[in-house]
Amino acid sequence: MVETAVRAGVTRMITMGVDLERSRTAVLLAHRLDAVWAAVGHYPGEHAPPDMKALGELARDTRVVAIGEVGLDFEEHGTPPRDVQGERLHQMFELAVELDLPVSVHNRGAAAEIASAIAAHRGLRGVMHYFALEWDWAERFLELGFYLSFAGLVTRPSRHALRGVVKQCPADRLLLETDSPYGNAHKRMGVPNQPAYLLDTAELVSELRGMSLEELAAQESANALALFRNMK
Ligand SMILES: [Zn+2]
Repeated sequence: MVETAVRAGVTRMITMGVDLERSRTAVLLAHRLDAVWAAVGHYPGEHAPPDMKALGELARDTRVVAIGEVGLDFEEHGTPPRDVQGERLHQMFELAVELDLPVSVHNRGAAAEIASAIAAHRGLRGVMHYFALEWDWAERFLELGFYLSFAGLVTRPSRHALRGVVKQCPADRLLLETDSPYGNAHKRMGVPNQPAYLLDTAELVSELRGMSLEELAAQESANALALFRNMK
């Protein structure tokens, strides 16, 4: 899958950790595959508390470029109580600031709480992953210094408002992702997503922003390297 992506022109990928075990797997993959870097994280839907000591040690690995996925999920059924999620997010944000790593933030139904948590951590930088909100929220996260990352969702014709956000987002704050195996582009609904399909989103975004795919690719690489500094 990584080879297919590299052949398609997707030459750098970050694989996310959702708990300690899968963060370890992400780091292992990043050591085996030149095109892959790792993020170490604790998904908000996880029930067991994060092992902060072990995650902190793992996050110091040279192939780790971010703390993620972390965030708040107030919509998914059966997630831990809000205050528990909030306390864990605070711990993960503290770790990111301590290690000077960016965070990749998952948000479902918790934009206000996440914005306050970001504002409460001086020096925190990062990206709102799978951004799907309206311009008012985009503006708020941009003001907090965050990047916005767009996925296959923007290729769904019904997503007019989101397409507007893609057009308005400052060029130096825009990132693209697949969120694979989830979040497929409209034309591939029902098929598991994979990194190579980033091109579906990139093609539409370049059209929306009135630039060539090559220009967008150059901008995206520069943005990714500016945020994920260890991804050299
Ligand atoms: Zn997510």
